[in-house]
Amino acid sequence: MIKELQLRILPEQAANEQSLKEVIQRETGTSLSEIKAIRVLKRSIDARQRTVFVNLKVRVFINEEPDEQEYQTVDYKDVSGGKAVIIVGAGPGGLFAALRLIELGFRPIVIERGKNVRERKKDIALISREHMVNSESNYSFGEGGAGAYSDGKLYTRSKKRGSVEKILNVFCQHGASPMILSDAHPHIGTDKLPAVIENMRNRIIQCGGEVHFETRMDTFILKGDEIKGVETNIGKSFHGPVILATGHSARDVYYYLHQQQIPIEAKGIAVGVRLEHPQELIDQIQYHSKEGRGEFLPAAEYSFATQVNGRGVYSFCMCPGGFVVPAASAPKQVVVNGMSPANRNSRWANSGMVVEVHPEDFPEFAPHKELALMKFQEQMEEQAWLNGGMKQTAPAQRMDDFVNRKNSFDLPESSYTPGLLAAPLHFCLPEFISSRLKEGFRHFGKTSRGFLTREAVLIGVETRTSSPVRILRDRETYQHITLKGLFPCGEGAGYAGGIVSAAIDGERCAEAVASLMA
Ligand SMILES: Cc1cc2nc3c(=O)[nH]c(=O)nc-3n(C[C@H](O)[C@H](O)[C@H](O)COP(=O)(O)OP(=O)(O)OC[C@H]3O[C@@H](n4cnc5c(N)ncnc54)[C@H](O)[C@@H]3O)c2cc1C
Repeated sequence: MIKELQLRILPEQAANEQSLKEVIQRETGTSLSEIKAIRVLKRSIDARQRTVFVNLKVRVFINEEPDEQEYQTVDYKDVSGGKAVIIVGAGPGGLFAALRLIELGFRPIVIERGKNVRERKKDIALISREHMVNSESNYSFGEGGAGAYSDGKLYTRSKKRGSVEKILNVFCQHGASPMILSDAHPHIGTDKLPAVIENMRNRIIQCGGEVHFETRMDTFILKGDEIKGVETNIGKSFHGPVILATGHSARDVYYYLHQQQIPIEAKGIAVGVRLEHPQELIDQIQYHSKEGRGEFLPAAEYSFATQVNGRGVYSFCMCPGGFVVPAASAPKQVVVNGMSPANRNSRWANSGMVVEVHPEDFPEFAPHKELALMKFQEQMEEQAWLNGGMKQTAPAQRMDDFVNRKNSFDLPESSYTPGLLAAPLHFCLPEFISSRLKEGFRHFGKTSRGFLTREAVLIGVETRTSSPVRILRDRETYQHITLKGLFPCGEGAGYAGGIVSAAIDGERCAEAVASLMA
């Protein structure tokens, strides 16, 4: 017999299978020996009250063994004889487009400017160690895209549950833990992601597709208003319809499109700083206990949002038990972001703290209005590099000093390995951003006592929250509005924000190409 139960239990009761069995025994009257297996279908933590509960939906196998797979698998075909489709960019958008094309019988040819996910790691280490940024291989560029060395958070605001589940199942099929299917806030972790990405690449190649690293698309091959393929920096051209999934850091791609007068438009983004607290403090606040999270709870998360003078101020991409990382994609930039390992066990908690900005905020860039927000990002990142001492050292300020507009004479310990340099961020950031951040922090400090603290540090700057440009495409066909055969895809095209939504968009673009070519 199979029973499904909804449980609201203490963290220690949810901690392992034996204690869970004992709870189920009490709830159902079934003896321990009759419970053959338990499958957790949904797991979330309710920390709203003083006593923290774990909510579980479980499937209990009583006197029978489970014969179902923990996740659904896709049957990938041999597509070596299929029609070729070019995919530029091996981030989540590009990789999921490639896998979906294989499902549909087409042969994906993936072109990626960066290195494979393992080689890339060495360049990422050099950023921290030597302050050297390789403009083709960094936290944004290389196999796996911007999502490879991240927290691998897989939650999304997408309402299309079916699409989200499909993406999570594909991740499981390629080595991610099936726990991502049940967790309310699933994440893979930066230490586990590379193997999953490698498995996806091997799948593409085994099925007859191609993956070319260190191959950058430089120009389109155009015939009238149709794209016939791409030219690359290694002198090789590739022919076929093009899914353009180059991410939001490929500024050369935006410059190229703008120069070719291919329709794009400026898109609102959010910018600010990364805020880092000791994780222990966040645990104490969120779990309402001086003891912190104890033995059975995970590193606590938070999420804040408010409005200040008509603009959203909010936390973004929170990484419990994580690290602040140097995410510049070219020299003379300082950009920060966050990541965490699967067990989220570092001593720090960080999140982006950002303010919405709109294209109309920047009349000074009016002559290039499509690129206005990208130019603003460039300006902020260069300023942060100057303020950080012209290295990957990042300008930083204690949180309470920022709010009180005072210089910080010392800084707390931080996870940011290139190092911090004290700087008056209240003054260095544009006034309309720093004043809103200040009010936002005051508000968050009131709603969550202890959050606004001297122990926390602001690290500048967080600018790559989403794409500053939208590459215009038709809503139905996913094709560019003026160029046939071009399918702008994922975050860089302005149609996704995060790993899962980029992956979903990759699948939709693949389907659109397939229906065009059928
Ligand atoms: C440090 C960090 C942490 C993050 N954490 C999370 C998280 O926990 N959860 C989450 O949902 N999101 C996270 N994000 C954001 C997430 O990674 C992106 O939203 C997602 O990767 C976008 O996918 P994409 O495929 O559209 O673009 P990208 O992942 O940016 O991939 C684009 C790819 O295109 C390649 N490329 C660019 N130009 C060219 C060219 N001319 N020729 C060939 N190749 C090219 C790039 O090298 C890159 O590999 C994080 C990002 C960073 C940087």
